[in-house]
Amino acid sequence: MTLKKSFDLSGKVAVVTGGSRGIGRAICERLASQGADIAVVYVGDKAEVEETVAAVAKHKRRCQYYECDVSDFDKCKEITDKIAADFGAIDILVNNAGITRDMLLMQMKESDWDLVLDINLKGAFNMSRHAVGRMIRNKSGKIINISSTAGCDGNPGQGNYSASKAGMIGLTKSLAKEVASRGITVNAVAPGFIDTAMTQVLKDDLKSKVAGHIPLGRFGVPTDIANIVGYLASPAADYITAQVIRVDGGLSV
Ligand code: NAP
Repeated sequence: MTLKKSFDLSGKVAVVTGGSRGIGRAICERLASQGADIAVVYVGDKAEVEETVAAVAKHKRRCQYYECDVSDFDKCKEITDKIAADFGAIDILVNNAGITRDMLLMQMKESDWDLVLDINLKGAFNMSRHAVGRMIRNKSGKIINISSTAGCDGNPGQGNYSASKAGMIGLTKSLAKEVASRGITVNAVAPGFIDTAMTQVLKDDLKSKVAGHIPLGRFGVPTDIANIVGYLASPAADYITAQVIRVDGGLSV
């Protein structure tokens, strides 16, 4: 296979949750640049998701957006059915939607525990649950879960978030083993600190302190994550499954 063919996603349909901004938008652009058509699942701001559509349009790929709170099991079924009907298939699913509600555990509200687990972890279950049957019937598919280094290492003040992201890793490995014989790969990406709205809320002195602990000396940018997702979604990664790939500037060293 030529190098170009190894990364070619022409004719593929990718669903990206939380694709309205940040890492999700960069993933939409990356997959479109490789030839995929894109279904963006978003929940909040229509103006933002329209910016994603415009970004994908530059690659001359089809892009439609679907409003759906990924924590809602029935709505996820409705939306995956609609996407499959509109596009004719779901070949790639990127579970990227995620939130934080940071607080030390002894002060954490039950509602903040539930909300983070429901969106980050149950959301990935909901979307995978409704998409994977189609992939099994097609005997091919790629599921990529955006976890976090917090899910690998833990992080003070992020008990709910770290648990949700660690749960995504368990989900990734279990589902990968369930569907490997059907030609479907399931992998997780664990970003470190990436410059998006999620980290822009951190105080400047904390950001400098964190950057000082990153061997590469800086926060990542959304395309750093999109690049690995583009790889995992492509034929070049057909023999990679059940893995957690850290993209963290060396934070783990
Ligand atoms: P972001 O800019 O806050 O984007 C989060 C996205 O998730 C937004 O598009 C948001 O949509 C969507 N979303 C939130 N709740 C949703 C729901 N209930 N249903 C559907 N979509 C929902 O954050 P980001 O930094 O790009 O993060 C993307 C992913 O990477 C997250 O899973 C995050 O945990 C993970 N991650 C980020 C970092 C980092 O340093 N930034 C590090 C490790 C992992 P609305 O705008 O409509 O709310």
